[in-house]
Amino acid sequence: MREEINRLMDLQVIDRQLQELEQSLASIAGRVDQLRDENKNHQAEFDRLTEQDKEISAARKKAERELAEGEVRIRNKRMRLTLVRNDKELQALTHEIESLKDTNQRLETELLTSMEGADVRTARIKELTEAITKGRVDLTAAEKEIATEVEELKGNISKTRKAREKIAENVDPGLLSRYQMIFSRRAGVAVAKATGGTCQGCRMRLPPQLYNEIQKHLQIHFCPNCQRVLYYEEPAAEKASS
Ligand SMILES: [Zn+2]
Repeated sequence: MREEINRLMDLQVIDRQLQELEQSLASIAGRVDQLRDENKNHQAEFDRLTEQDKEISAARKKAERELAEGEVRIRNKRMRLTLVRNDKELQALTHEIESLKDTNQRLETELLTSMEGADVRTARIKELTEAITKGRVDLTAAEKEIATEVEELKGNISKTRKAREKIAENVDPGLLSRYQMIFSRRAGVAVAKATGGTCQGCRMRLPPQLYNEIQKHLQIHFCPNCQRVLYYEEPAAEKASS
């Protein structure tokens, strides 16, 4: 029985290695994913701003045209002022000129505001253009950089898996599946030491009868509280192994 427990402990060591390797693989790929996301966001903002820029400059051209037309109209009406023959006509014409001036004033304000916004946008577009170019270079470099690491990790994982299979095939299938369930549910500790009458996995005091049985190693015992596989180690052996 002690041999069976030793195999489970070997399995536990190797399963933790596998877990670490897989986590490293995920975190390395995560760095590249992050860069890719950043680039995508920059590109989306760039597209949105350039589209906005196009629309706004079209609106600006229209406003500039209207402003110029308004000025021509004001000039014409002012010339007609000299030809006015009565007060009523004068009043009407003056009113028209005032209203045209108001419209032009509004167009001027609009133009100025849109120019201010354009500066901020142009600066951001320039910033984004640089970020996108740099982001592309960084991503290619990161992909190249991790390629070797990823290959290595994948190689290690498959080697470790094979070693694991070799051990696992010598473990009773029922015990193996129970071990696997505990390993995944108990944060990678499925086999725990029993010392001083206590399960070292969950620190619970074991019934004395069970503790005695564990020390004989005649069969596999489980902690009644955390379900971990328990093994006993002589105090002398404990010292030597630690
Ligand atoms: Zn326990």
